[in-house]
Amino acid sequence: MPHDVVDLRSDTLTLPTPAMREAMARADVGDDVWEEDPTVQRLEGLAAGLMGKQAGLFVASGTMGNLVSVVAQTRPGQELVLDADSHIFNYEVAGSAVIGHVQTRPITTERGFLSPAQVAEAIRPRNIHVPATGLVCVENTHNRHGGTLCAPEEISAVAAVAHGAGVPVHLDGARLFNAAVALKRPARDFAADADSVTFCVSKGLAAPVGSVVCGTRDFIARARRLRKMLGGGMRQVGVLAAAGIVALEQMIDRLAEDHANARRLAGGVAALPRIRLDLARVQTNIVLFSVDRPGGVEELVAGSAARKIKIHAVGPASIRCVTHKDVDEADIDRALQAFAEITRAW
Ligand SMILES: *Cc1c(COP(=O)(O)O)cnc(C)c1O
Repeated sequence: MPHDVVDLRSDTLTLPTPAMREAMARADVGDDVWEEDPTVQRLEGLAAGLMGKQAGLFVASGTMGNLVSVVAQTRPGQELVLDADSHIFNYEVAGSAVIGHVQTRPITTERGFLSPAQVAEAIRPRNIHVPATGLVCVENTHNRHGGTLCAPEEISAVAAVAHGAGVPVHLDGARLFNAAVALKRPARDFAADADSVTFCVSKGLAAPVGSVVCGTRDFIARARRLRKMLGGGMRQVGVLAAAGIVALEQMIDRLAEDHANARRLAGGVAALPRIRLDLARVQTNIVLFSVDRPGGVEELVAGSAARKIKIHAVGPASIRCVTHKDVDEADIDRALQAFAEITRAW
């Protein structure tokens, strides 16, 4: 059955699969604040295994996962080093400042990834005037840079510099499995030298809700207290975790299809008039491009909507399309056909 609407706005719009619905209906549950939900514990164990960490913690969202990770590893008044386009700096409502009393130190990068030299330069010296560096954050794949990825070795090189200065590293891996599938590397390689890692089951992996934070047992114990403080201590939440288990067991390998569809889309979009798109940056499931025509973004968004294709403007001159399991190759061709019609007179 062809899809009525082609929704390219985000992979968060993916609907749960029939297997997820089934698993949710049948899930064994208990009170997870009492640590008695066997399905949550299975998901956390599975996640920790995939990340090569001692323990995991199921949280409501990637935002909550990042927040508990930052706050558990810093003290008030410390500084958080991150990329200026990072999700934590731009889209998490300043939670690290409000809840953690941590100052952010945004660094501008080419592709979204801090180099070891940039981290070395950003780490503060011991001096009575300056804040102490509390944490370095890395994001992979990188959302605002259009799904760009870095190799595990790049994360390890940054971690070596941070650890050399006694500073821990958090990996915001909301879409870490997209990087893992694209580079054909196990997810645990990316997390190997990170002290904490967060990934979402609610994006391309298609579960309805949730993220998992992984790290040492001691870190997870602190993160668990913080999750409770934030109101994230949920009760029979195995109903949700059950979908996350299906996500990890059945939905990782198929991300390769999303990447192929993104490349197909990008190839077509790059050939349109007045569009600027860097094909080298289309590395996973996000296609980011700019429109070099006043009002062109609005024309494309409205013209697409009229053809039942939803796309998302991410600035006055930029559009982001995200591929996912509810978009197939025929949908990509339909979107390209629509874009060609709308831009014909450009
Ligand atoms: C989506 C996203 C998050 C936050 O996840 P939510 O579940 O939407 O809160 C964090 N980091 C990155 C890189 C993301 O893309």
